[in-house]
Amino acid sequence: MLELRPTCENCGKALPPDASEARICSYECTFCAACVDEVLDNVCPNCGGGFVPRPIRPATNWNGDNFLGNDPASTTVRHRPVDRAAHARFAAPIKGIPPEKR
Ligand SMILES: [Zn+2]
Ligand SMILES: [Zn+2]
Repeated sequence: MLELRPTCENCGKALPPDASEARICSYECTFCAACVDEVLDNVCPNCGGGFVPRPIRPATNWNGDNFLGNDPASTTVRHRPVDRAAHARFAAPIKGIPPEKR
């Protein structure tokens, strides 16, 4: 189950569970869309993978307690701002490769 982390790891922007701008990698490293596009070049600084929009967990108990009220979002903040120069070097050989080929 996704943790639904509360903030962007880079800029600290709040990303509540209904945030349409939340982006995650396959390890659930979590960033805002602006940081993914403008800072990270769609390269996760932790694993090198790409990002996808984070799904929104329903706030309503439509079926079998599978909803936010029963499985709430994480409140553990992970703040690891990216060193832009270091990330540019890391991402340079990766960003041109489509995520499905990395
Ligand atoms: Zn951000
Ligand atoms: Zn990652």
